Amino acid sequence: MTLKSTDLIHHPYKPPAGFDSPQPGVYKASTIIFPNVAALRARDWKHKTGYTYGLHGTPTTFALEERIATLEGAKHCLLVPSGLAAIACVDFSLLSSGDEVLLPDNAYGPNRTLAENELRQWGITHQRYDPMDPADLERRLGPRTRLVWLEAPGSVTMEFPPLAHLAHLCRQRGITTALDNTWGAGLAFNGFDLGRGDRFTPTSGADIVVQALTKYPSGGGDVLMGSIATRDEALHVRLKFTHMRIGFGVGGNDVEAVLRSLASLPLRYQAHDAAARSLARWLQQQPQVAQVLHPALEGSPGHEHWRALCGDDGQAAGLFSVVFHERYSPAQVDAFCDALQLFRIGYSWGGPVSLVVPYDLPSMRSAELGTWKHRGVLARFSVGLEHAADLQADLEQALAALG
Ligand SMILES: *Cc1c(COP(=O)(O)O)cnc(C)c1O
Repeated sequence: MTLKSTDLIHHPYKPPAGFDSPQPGVYKASTIIFPNVAALRARDWKHKTGYTYGLHGTPTTFALEERIATLEGAKHCLLVPSGLAAIACVDFSLLSSGDEVLLPDNAYGPNRTLAENELRQWGITHQRYDPMDPADLERRLGPRTRLVWLEAPGSVTMEFPPLAHLAHLCRQRGITTALDNTWGAGLAFNGFDLGRGDRFTPTSGADIVVQALTKYPSGGGDVLMGSIATRDEALHVRLKFTHMRIGFGVGGNDVEAVLRSLASLPLRYQAHDAAARSLARWLQQQPQVAQVLHPALEGSPGHEHWRALCGDDGQAAGLFSVVFHERYSPAQVDAFCDALQLFRIGYSWGGPVSLVVPYDLPSMRSAELGTWKHRGVLARFSVGLEHAADLQADLEQALAALG
C-alpha cells in the first residue's frame, strides 16, 4: 500500500496564474520556497524585490506596508505585532548605552514604562519634557540626546502640542524624531510635513512615524498591529535590520483584517469624529463637568496648534476626556462609569464599541513638570460607531445618577 502523504504534499496541480480580485490574497508562510539554490543564495529581503522567509515579508504584508506608507505620506513601512512593538523597535534600533531619549510628559504610558525599565537596564537614560513648552524641550536637548518622541494629542489628557516647533528644534540639532501618529491615523495631518517650526524656519516634520494599527486602521477591536513609516531609505534599512533580528512577525490573517478595514478608514474616522464632537460639546454644557479636553474645541489646551496643523475644518478622531467637577470623588466617577450601558469599560479605541476609562492623573505625571493642574477626576471616552443620540442618552442617565 502506498502512503498518500507525498502526493498530497507535492501535488502536480497548479492553479492558473493571473487571478485578480478586489482584496489582496492572504499569503501565510514561515518557509518560502526558492526555485533553485542560486536564487536562495541571491536572496534580498531589503527592497521588496523577492521573498526569503515569512518573517521578512509576503505579498500580503508588502501590500499593507505599501498602503500604510501611502496613508502616512511615507516611502517605506514596516509592520510589527502591536503599536507598542513599533515604539520598542524604534527604541531598540536607534538607542545605545549612554544615549538619552526624551518623551513628552503625556506620552502613551507604555512608551514611558519601557524607558523606565528595559532601556534603563541597558544604560539608556530618559527625560520627560513638557510638550506644550518648546523652551522646556530645548533646555533638555543635550549631546547624549539621540531620539525625541512626539505625540499629538497627548495620551488621555489630549493637549495638542506645537509639533512643528518641537520637530524643528530637534532637526536643527540633527536629533532623530519619532511621532506616535495613532490619533491622527494618517488622516488628520501628515507627520512628515508639520508646517513651519516658526516664521523663519523651513518646513519641519518627524523622521519616523509610528501608528497602532490596532486602533482606527483595524477598526474592529480584534487585531493588534503596528507600523513604522519613514521617508529616509537609510533609516528604513536600519529599522528593517532591527526588525529582522528581533523577529517581529505579523500573521497573514491579521494583515488581511487590516487590509479589509483600511478602505473604510476615512469614512469611519469622519463618523467617530462627528459623533465625538457633538457629545463633547453637549458635555461642556453639563453642570457635573469642569472641562472637556478635545483638541477641536475652543479653550481646550493646544486647540490653536490643532487648528494650525489640521486646518479650520480639520479632523480630530473620536476621543475626548472629561474632567469632572472636583466635588466628585474617584469612587463617584467609578460609579458613573459603571452606570453607563453603551459605553463599555475597556482599554484601547478605534473599534465600533464606545469605551470609557477613568484615570488617576497625578500618579501618571512628572511632579517636577507639573503639567497636570486640574483637581477633578478624569475619564477618557472613545466614541465608537453607535448612533450619537443613543450615546448622549446613555451619558445623560449616568450623569443623572451622579447627581
Ligand atoms: C494603543 C496605543 C499604542 C499601542 O498600541 P497597541 O497595539 O495596543 O500596542 C501606542 N500609542 C498610542 C497613542 C496608542 O493609543
